[in-house]
Order: sequence, then C-alpha cells, then structure tokens
Amino acid sequence: MHMNSIADNPKLVSFDGLFSAIVPCKNEEDMIPIFYENFIAEMAKFQNPNFEIIFIDDGSTDYTLNQLKQLATKDSRVKYISFSRNFGKEAAMYAGFKHAKGDFVAIMDADLQDPPSLLTEMFQKIKDCDCVATRRSTRTNEPPVRSFFARLFYKVLNLLSPLKFKEGARDFRLMRRRVVDEILRMGEVNRFLKGMYEWVGFKTEWIEYENCPRVAGQTKWSLAGLGLYSVEAFTSFSTVPLAIVSVVGLAFCLLSLVAIIFVSIRQLMFHNSAFGWTSMVCILFFLSGLQLFCLGIIGQYMSKIYLETKRRQPYIIQEANIDIPEL
Ligand code: UDP
Ligand code: MG
Repeated sequence: MHMNSIADNPKLVSFDGLFSAIVPCKNEEDMIPIFYENFIAEMAKFQNPNFEIIFIDDGSTDYTLNQLKQLATKDSRVKYISFSRNFGKEAAMYAGFKHAKGDFVAIMDADLQDPPSLLTEMFQKIKDCDCVATRRSTRTNEPPVRSFFARLFYKVLNLLSPLKFKEGARDFRLMRRRVVDEILRMGEVNRFLKGMYEWVGFKTEWIEYENCPRVAGQTKWSLAGLGLYSVEAFTSFSTVPLAIVSVVGLAFCLLSLVAIIFVSIRQLMFHNSAFGWTSMVCILFFLSGLQLFCLGIIGQYMSKIYLETKRRQPYIIQEANIDIPEL
C-alpha cells in the first residue's frame, strides 16, 4: 500500500538537511557513469533533494579517477577522495564517513548491487528510526560455494558473538548523523563495519531485497579474501574463541588425568601397559594438532593487538576535491 503511494506520487518523499552517499570504488571505470545516472534519477524522485556523492577511489589502476574528475567538473555535488594505494573497502568507507557532511549518510556500492531505487523507501522509514539497513533475501547469481560459506559464516559468528548479525546484511545503510558520529568515535584501526553497526545499536529498521547481479566490471572478492574478512569479524567482535581454547585445554587435562590413573593402575596390577603404539601416535598427532590450532587462535588475537598498538592511519589520501587538512 505504502509502496504504491510512493510509486504513484514519488514527490511525496522528502528529507530535511543534506544527504551524503558514500561510494567506495576500486577499478569501477565502467560503473561510475552508470551509477551516477542511476543515482541522479533516483534523487529526482525526492522533493528538493540536497545531496552530495562522495566517491572514494580505493587505489584503482584503471580510469576510475579520471571518470570521477570529469563528473566533478560537471556536477559540484560530486566529491572524490583518492587513496595513495588500495586500502580495502573498510578503509574507504571509513574515509567516507569521516568526510561526509550529511545529516543522513548512506554507503552504496558502485556496481548497483545496492539498488539506489531503495532510497525512497529508506527515507520513508528513517522518519521513525535512526538507521535503515538492508539485507539480501536471496543469493541467486552467486557461486554456490560462496553462498555455502557465507551461510556457515553467519551461523558460527552468531554462535560466538554476543552481537546478533543478520544473514545477508549489506554495508548498504541509511543512517542519521548521530550513528555516523558514534561509529567514527570507535577507536579501532582494524574496522569491521558490519559489526560496528551492531555494536553502536540505535533503532534500526530492515529492508529485504532480491540479490541483483553486478551491472558491469568484476567482483573484487576472492574466496580467500572473504576467508580473511571472516577471521576479522570473529576476532573483532567476539572473544569466545579464546574461552573455547581454554575450555578445550582444561577438558584434555582432565581426560589425561583419568588416562594417567588408568594406565598407572594397569601397570601396577597387570604389568602390561607397553602396548598401543598405534593409538599413542594417533593421540599424539591429534593433540599436537589441537595445540597448534589453539595457538593459532590466540595468535590471531595477538596480531590484532600488535596492529592496533601501532596506531597506523587506516588510509592515505593522495588527492581530493574537498578540503582535507592533511593535504
Ligand atoms: N571496493 C573497494 N575496495 C576494495 C574492494 C572493493 O572500494 O578493495 C568497492 C568496489 O569498488 C565496490 C564495493 O567495494 O563498489 C563492493 O565490491 P564488490 O562489488 O567487488 O563486492 P561484492 O559485491 O562482490 O561483495
Ligand atoms: Mg558487488
């Protein structure tokens, strides 16, 4: 009902203040003009929209930056920030948040997989909340292996973390200024934005939509890249793996105590404990494997501490068409 009324009379939707759309781009030369056209067309559905588009060129090696410069000369609402190299989407989104001036802020992928057509509905919804988030209800057009691991990832993450993560949640969100300010106040250098959204809380409404394929260009994610991303998720928002490691350690200690008593008694009473080489080797292999695995988990957290203590800047800006103090 509510959707129909927007479609019939699109100019019904409006918002007060400035809207900043943040668009991280890595090698998106084909997508930038298409995204821009599409976005502008959506904005035309609002009453007097006041907006800026902040493109973050995340170390592209193609004509992305040239495209952005061209757009910026045509349209002063187009801003760009170009990094000195590829720092990753998380860093790009952080830079976007930092330099967005909007009262409303949204992150949107350049490939139109975060459909700008949802914006009208999102602005309707945000009238009664602080944050409108999106999730994909389907994973069609995605390789099955990737979908499988993605599902597994959310199951395990929710099991291990006190925060609840919605499966298929996108980075695509519309937020009020206060949410962005709180996210910026979070001090960590290693940023996992999906977790940070959950951590800051605020009243959030969800919108579901069907997955749509990338319009042009290629995905920047490999399966290995996604694997590393999930390790980041676990270590940033859960310390449960550390607790599991301790419990497993303790359980094996108790088990070995029982075994020691059993073997000692058998030796004392029957003098026949010297068999079972095969089983001994199996147990040895298993336990040393387990120990290394647990050390690895602890190592992951240690590496986080190591990186955090260095307090390196999350990105370096090479050039931009907005005022940046460090330039
Ligand atoms: N992206 C980026 N830096 C990177 C990788 C990706 O800014 O190192 C951008 C990319 O240009 C796109 C968005 O992040 O606008 C999402 O990337 P992609 O479409 O490759 O991810 P997928 O949709 O396949 O998860
Ligand atoms: Mg994409």
